[in-house]
Amino acid sequence: MKNRITQLFGIQYPIIQAGMIWCSGWELASAVSNAGGLGILGSGSMYPEVLDEHVRKCKQATDKPFAVNLPMLYPDIDKHVETIIKHKVPIVFTSAGNPKTWTSHLQQHGIKVVHVVSSVKFALKSQEAGVDAVVAEGFEAGGHNGREETTTFCLIPAVAEKLSIPLIAAGGIGTGRGMLAAMNLGADAVQIGSRFVASPESSAHQLFKQAVVDAGEGDTLLMLKELTPVRLLKNPFFEELRAAYANQADVDTLREILGRGRAKRGMFEGDMEAGELEIGQVSALIHEIKPAAEIVRELIDEYNQALSEQQKIN
Ligand code: NDP
Ligand code: NDP
Repeated sequence: MKNRITQLFGIQYPIIQAGMIWCSGWELASAVSNAGGLGILGSGSMYPEVLDEHVRKCKQATDKPFAVNLPMLYPDIDKHVETIIKHKVPIVFTSAGNPKTWTSHLQQHGIKVVHVVSSVKFALKSQEAGVDAVVAEGFEAGGHNGREETTTFCLIPAVAEKLSIPLIAAGGIGTGRGMLAAMNLGADAVQIGSRFVASPESSAHQLFKQAVVDAGEGDTLLMLKELTPVRLLKNPFFEELRAAYANQADVDTLREILGRGRAKRGMFEGDMEAGELEIGQVSALIHEIKPAAEIVRELIDEYNQALSEQQKIN
């Protein structure tokens, strides 16, 4: 498959594995890249020396392009940028911050830069900042999310109408049919997170992977809009937050309940009671833990099947 995104990144399929804290280390990223997609290291949960280790291991495990996701809220971002430049990582996906901050610096070192947004306004701001492509992520997505609740179905055509650089759709995509739908709405590629959490290569805890497989429709909700909105799987911690909302908790109380390191506790250490479990709505469509290469192959097979059905209708 050849289009603007496969050419920009030098990959076989327009499938990008989302950078996900605690879930996407070198094993997952290299497996997706080896399967013809683009694997991404989620650096938001990695101390500087941990990212260094993961970049090294990723380079040993694949000779294909891979990327690093750099959430701009990260406290030691300068050190992450140094690591990325030192190891000549070819592509960086920045998120949760201003795309002007790092884009030209990274590009001067020959790195392609993609920025993640949840609105048309920020997509255009990213284009102005000179990024090479944009990821537009809808309300269905897991983890951090936009406040406006714009769904992927509305966001992608709205961004596609205005943007001239390549567009990657994210949020709610976990199947080949979903991929085709996103491309029909105007995307050049898809970014998929949740589906890859339920793979042996993901660094998520086994109990979290199983919870993703077990999740059904309505089992996730967007929470903590007053702090940083995040889509969570319902569990006792989630219910604690819900009870606090029912008691009109203020922002400080919510922050106190959240505390520190909840995401690690839930997704990496497997504390299903007290941990934060970040996953998308599409978890309802995930029924099995599967190797990343198999996930990529199934996505492409289903995409091709759906495309041929679509062409028959025409
Ligand atoms: P390995 O697969 O060689 O080892 C995994 C490491 O993670 C071990 O040190 C192990 O500690 C620790 N670990 C495994 N499961 C858990 C858990 N449930 N809770 C806490 N720690 C756990 O390492 P990798 O090459 O995959 O990773 C290298 C480094 O990157 C490690 O320090 C790892 O912790 C970290 N990492 C960070 C991720 C992130 O998103 N921040 C994702 C994946 C790894 P022990 O030997 O004591 O059991
Ligand atoms: P918290 O403030 O609750 O905890 C920080 C966590 O990050 C701890 O578990 C800590 O590990 C780990 N960590 C890794 N590197 C550092 C560092 N240099 N300084 C301090 N802590 C570090 O944050 P969250 O767990 O909610 O989020 C962590 C990061 O991930 C943030 O940078 C945030 O922007 C990003 N994030 C991105 C998301 C996305 O969807 N892209 C989703 C959620 C968060 P330890 O416990 O071992 O000290």
